[in-house]
Amino acid sequence: MIRLEKASKVFTQEAGSFTALKETDLAIGKGEFIAIMGPSGSGKSTLLQLMGGLDLPTSGRVAVDGTELHKLNENERTLFRRTKIGFVFQNYQLLPVMTVAENVALAMAANKSPKSEIHHRVTELLKEVDLADKADQYPSRLSGGQQQRVAIARALAMKPRLILADEPTGNLDRKTGAGVLETLTRLNREEGITVVMVTHDEEAAKAASRIVRIRDGEVVRDEANRAQEAAPEGGDRA
Ligand code: ADP
Ligand code: MG
Repeated sequence: MIRLEKASKVFTQEAGSFTALKETDLAIGKGEFIAIMGPSGSGKSTLLQLMGGLDLPTSGRVAVDGTELHKLNENERTLFRRTKIGFVFQNYQLLPVMTVAENVALAMAANKSPKSEIHHRVTELLKEVDLADKADQYPSRLSGGQQQRVAIARALAMKPRLILADEPTGNLDRKTGAGVLETLTRLNREEGITVVMVTHDEEAAKAASRIVRIRDGEVVRDEANRAQEAAPEGGDRA
């Protein structure tokens, strides 16, 4: 689903250049649920942004579902992101002046889908994240966990086969975060959606089947999640 070949990211500023990601080779298969872990500033978000075509590597290449991202021009990349990838962020990034339903509809509206189709899909998505009764509320009236589930519904609008989530439970307490992780796990297991989730929470990483650890812009470990192998049905993994 995702392939990085010697992909690096160097930020150049007046003070000099800073290597946020060293030359990295990484392959993520269809249907995987990956956690990317590492200390603050280790390059996790940079890596996720390269995977999502939000940024291009300084060297090397990134391909998503067979498409080489550097071969697309800016417009093509925007369209690729909007239709093929669902993004979820730590701070939800919902638009406060729009209702829940309008937020979820954004990508479809941008893609000029017919109104009736949008309405049908938004209703279906809000049901899926258990927020059918919140369609006409504004995001500020919702709890953090509910806002993040709206963000997940929004990410799913175009039926992407890939979700990239940057610290999706970072602003949530344990219990609320667990609900968001359950939603991501269900999408991965039942719909086969590939999920790549940045987190620095070992507990959250247990939802993943593979854990990639990075430090100082470098992958230092990449292994199957043993906790999950021991309890593939989920539930009590103590
Ligand atoms: P993480 O998500 O693991 O906390 P990031 O990928 O956000 O880390 O950042 C890695 C490093 O790259 C940090 O030292 C950060 O300051 C630097 N960095 C990130 N984005 C930029 C940027 N746009 N310009 C300059 N430096 C950046
Ligand atoms: Mg980050």
